[in-house]
Amino acid sequence: MSFDYEHLIVDIPDYPQPGVVFKDITPLIASPEGFQAVVSQLVEHFSAAGATKVMGAEARGFMVAAPVAYALHAGFVPARKPGKLPRKTLTENYALEYGNDALEIHTDALTPDDKVIIVDDLIATGGTALAQLRLIEQAGAQCIGMGFLMELAFLHPRDLLQEHRALDIFSLVQVN
Ligand code: 5GP
Repeated sequence: MSFDYEHLIVDIPDYPQPGVVFKDITPLIASPEGFQAVVSQLVEHFSAAGATKVMGAEARGFMVAAPVAYALHAGFVPARKPGKLPRKTLTENYALEYGNDALEIHTDALTPDDKVIIVDDLIATGGTALAQLRLIEQAGAQCIGMGFLMELAFLHPRDLLQEHRALDIFSLVQVN
Protein backbone atom coordinates (compact mmCIF):
# COMPACT_ATOMS: atom_id res chain seq x y z
CA MET A 1 0.00 0.00 0.00
CA SER A 2 1.37 3.44 -0.81
CA PHE A 3 -0.21 6.76 0.00
CA ASP A 4 1.29 10.22 -0.47
CA TYR A 5 0.91 11.32 3.15
CA GLU A 6 3.16 14.36 2.86
CA HIS A 7 0.96 16.37 0.49
CA LEU A 8 -1.68 16.42 3.25
CA ILE A 9 0.71 17.47 6.04
CA VAL A 10 1.20 21.24 6.26
CA ASP A 11 4.36 22.94 7.60
CA ILE A 12 3.51 25.79 9.97
CA PRO A 13 6.62 27.93 10.60
CA ASP A 14 7.12 29.47 14.07
CA TYR A 15 4.30 27.52 15.73
CA PRO A 16 3.77 27.16 18.65
CA GLN A 17 6.88 29.27 19.14
CA PRO A 18 9.57 30.98 16.99
CA GLY A 19 12.02 28.57 15.36
CA VAL A 20 9.70 25.52 15.47
CA VAL A 21 8.18 24.23 12.22
CA PHE A 22 4.97 22.50 13.30
CA LYS A 23 3.67 19.62 11.17
CA ASP A 24 -0.10 20.03 10.94
CA ILE A 25 -1.64 16.61 10.33
CA THR A 26 -5.29 17.72 10.49
CA PRO A 27 -5.69 17.88 6.65
CA LEU A 28 -4.44 14.27 6.47
CA ILE A 29 -6.89 12.89 9.00
CA ALA A 30 -9.67 15.05 7.51
CA SER A 31 -9.14 13.15 4.26
CA PRO A 32 -11.18 9.90 4.28
CA GLU A 33 -8.54 8.18 2.13
CA GLY A 34 -5.69 9.64 4.20
CA PHE A 35 -7.14 8.68 7.58
CA GLN A 36 -8.01 5.22 6.27
CA ALA A 37 -4.44 4.76 4.95
CA VAL A 38 -2.81 5.91 8.22
CA VAL A 39 -4.89 3.61 10.41
CA SER A 40 -4.77 0.60 8.10
CA GLN A 41 -1.03 0.79 7.57
CA LEU A 42 -0.34 0.98 11.31
CA VAL A 43 -2.81 -1.86 11.95
CA GLU A 44 -1.27 -3.99 9.20
CA HIS A 45 2.21 -3.49 10.65
CA PHE A 46 1.20 -4.51 14.18
CA SER A 47 -1.48 -7.08 13.33
CA ALA A 48 0.60 -10.09 14.38
CA ALA A 49 2.22 -8.45 17.44
CA GLY A 50 -0.37 -9.71 19.92
CA ALA A 51 -1.10 -6.33 21.54
CA THR A 52 -3.66 -6.31 24.33
CA LYS A 53 -3.62 -2.50 24.71
CA VAL A 54 -2.79 0.56 22.63
CA MET A 55 -1.73 3.72 24.47
CA GLY A 56 -2.30 7.19 23.03
CA ALA A 57 -1.15 10.51 24.52
CA GLU A 58 -3.37 13.55 24.86
CA ALA A 59 -4.51 14.99 22.60
CA ARG A 60 -3.33 14.36 19.03
CA GLY A 61 -2.29 10.82 19.92
CA PHE A 62 -5.91 9.93 20.71
CA MET A 63 -6.94 10.57 17.09
CA VAL A 64 -4.64 7.90 15.68
CA ALA A 65 -4.23 5.50 18.60
CA ALA A 66 -7.93 4.90 19.34
CA PRO A 67 -8.88 3.65 15.84
CA VAL A 68 -5.73 1.49 15.75
CA ALA A 69 -6.72 -0.07 19.10
CA TYR A 70 -10.22 -0.74 17.83
CA ALA A 71 -9.00 -2.41 14.64
CA LEU A 72 -6.45 -4.53 16.52
CA HIS A 73 -9.19 -5.68 18.95
CA ALA A 74 -7.06 -4.21 21.74
CA GLY A 75 -8.11 -1.91 24.57
CA PHE A 76 -7.29 1.79 24.50
CA VAL A 77 -5.38 3.49 27.33
CA PRO A 78 -5.35 7.30 27.33
CA ALA A 79 -2.19 8.94 28.69
CA ARG A 80 -3.42 12.30 29.95
CA LYS A 81 -2.06 15.62 31.15
CA PRO A 82 -1.88 16.01 34.96
CA GLY A 83 -5.18 16.37 36.81
CA LYS A 84 -7.41 15.11 33.98
CA LEU A 85 -7.96 11.54 35.18
CA PRO A 86 -10.44 11.15 38.03
CA ARG A 87 -8.84 8.29 39.97
CA LYS A 88 -5.39 7.38 41.36
CA THR A 89 -2.67 7.74 38.72
CA LEU A 90 0.90 6.84 37.80
CA THR A 91 2.86 9.91 36.59
CA GLU A 92 5.89 10.52 34.37
CA ASN A 93 7.51 13.90 33.74
CA TYR A 94 9.09 14.51 30.34
CA ALA A 95 10.74 17.14 28.14
CA LEU A 96 8.92 18.29 25.00
CA GLU A 97 10.43 19.72 21.81
CA TYR A 98 9.15 22.97 23.35
CA GLY A 99 8.80 22.91 27.15
CA ASN A 100 8.13 20.32 29.87
CA ASP A 101 5.06 18.35 30.76
CA ALA A 102 3.83 15.20 32.48
CA LEU A 103 1.59 12.30 31.50
CA GLU A 104 -0.59 10.11 33.69
CA ILE A 105 -2.51 6.86 33.43
CA HIS A 106 -4.84 5.28 35.97
CA THR A 107 -3.01 2.85 38.27
CA ASP A 108 -5.31 0.05 37.10
CA ALA A 109 -5.20 0.90 33.37
CA LEU A 110 -2.62 -1.84 32.72
CA THR A 111 -1.79 -5.18 34.32
CA PRO A 112 1.49 -7.15 34.15
CA ASP A 113 -0.12 -9.37 31.48
CA ASP A 114 -0.58 -6.46 29.09
CA LYS A 115 1.42 -6.11 25.87
CA VAL A 116 1.22 -2.48 24.86
CA ILE A 117 1.78 -0.56 21.63
CA ILE A 118 2.29 3.21 21.86
CA VAL A 119 0.71 5.08 18.94
CA ASP A 120 1.02 8.83 18.29
CA ASP A 121 0.67 11.19 15.34
CA LEU A 122 4.27 12.29 15.51
CA ILE A 123 7.55 11.57 17.28
CA ALA A 124 9.92 14.55 17.56
CA THR A 125 12.46 14.39 20.42
CA GLY A 126 11.01 11.09 21.67
CA GLY A 127 10.28 12.54 25.14
CA THR A 128 6.55 11.84 25.01
CA ALA A 129 7.11 8.25 23.81
CA LEU A 130 9.71 7.64 26.53
CA ALA A 131 7.33 8.95 29.21
CA GLN A 132 4.63 6.57 27.95
CA LEU A 133 7.11 3.69 27.92
CA ARG A 134 8.01 4.46 31.56
CA LEU A 135 4.34 4.56 32.51
CA ILE A 136 3.97 1.08 30.98
CA GLU A 137 7.03 -0.10 32.95
CA GLN A 138 5.70 1.50 36.18
CA ALA A 139 2.51 -0.50 35.70
CA GLY A 140 4.59 -3.69 35.30
CA ALA A 141 3.32 -4.24 31.74
CA GLN A 142 5.39 -4.71 28.58
CA CYS A 143 5.77 -2.27 25.68
CA ILE A 144 6.06 -4.30 22.47
CA GLY A 145 6.17 -1.52 19.89
CA MET A 146 5.59 2.06 18.87
CA GLY A 147 3.84 3.39 15.76
CA PHE A 148 3.86 6.94 14.42
CA LEU A 149 2.39 8.69 11.47
CA MET A 150 5.46 10.91 11.21
CA GLU A 151 8.99 10.75 12.64
CA LEU A 152 11.14 13.88 12.77
CA ALA A 153 14.30 11.80 12.26
CA PHE A 154 16.47 14.93 12.18
CA LEU A 155 15.74 15.31 15.94
CA HIS A 156 17.07 11.74 16.51
CA PRO A 157 14.23 10.45 18.69
CA ARG A 158 15.58 6.89 18.43
CA ASP A 159 18.73 8.00 20.32
CA LEU A 160 16.56 8.84 23.33
CA LEU A 161 14.99 5.39 23.09
CA GLN A 162 18.30 3.56 22.57
CA GLU A 163 18.03 1.60 25.83
CA HIS A 164 14.96 0.02 24.23
CA ARG A 165 16.68 -0.81 20.94
CA ALA A 166 14.89 -4.13 20.64
CA LEU A 167 11.51 -2.38 20.35
CA ASP A 168 9.70 -2.31 17.03
CA ILE A 169 9.53 1.42 16.23
CA PHE A 170 7.57 2.02 13.04
CA SER A 171 6.78 5.31 11.28
CA LEU A 172 4.83 5.91 8.08
CA VAL A 173 6.75 9.08 7.15
CA GLN A 174 10.33 9.94 8.11
CA VAL A 175 11.51 13.55 7.85
CA ASN A 176 15.31 13.75 7.53
P1 5GP B 1 8.25 14.66 21.38
O1 5GP B 1 7.91 14.38 22.80
O2 5GP B 1 8.65 13.43 20.62
O3 5GP B 1 9.27 15.76 21.27
O4 5GP B 1 6.96 15.27 20.67
C1 5GP B 1 5.92 14.46 20.22
C2 5GP B 1 4.61 14.87 20.81
O5 5GP B 1 4.37 16.25 20.63
C3 5GP B 1 3.48 14.14 20.14
O6 5GP B 1 2.49 13.80 21.10
C4 5GP B 1 2.94 15.11 19.12
O7 5GP B 1 1.52 15.09 19.05
C5 5GP B 1 3.44 16.47 19.61
N1 5GP B 1 4.17 17.21 18.56
C6 5GP B 1 5.40 17.74 18.65
N2 5GP B 1 5.74 18.39 17.53
C7 5GP B 1 4.70 18.24 16.70
C8 5GP B 1 4.45 18.66 15.34
O8 5GP B 1 5.27 19.32 14.67
N3 5GP B 1 3.27 18.30 14.80
C9 5GP B 1 2.35 17.57 15.49
N4 5GP B 1 1.22 17.25 14.87
N5 5GP B 1 2.55 17.16 16.75
C10 5GP B 1 3.69 17.50 17.35
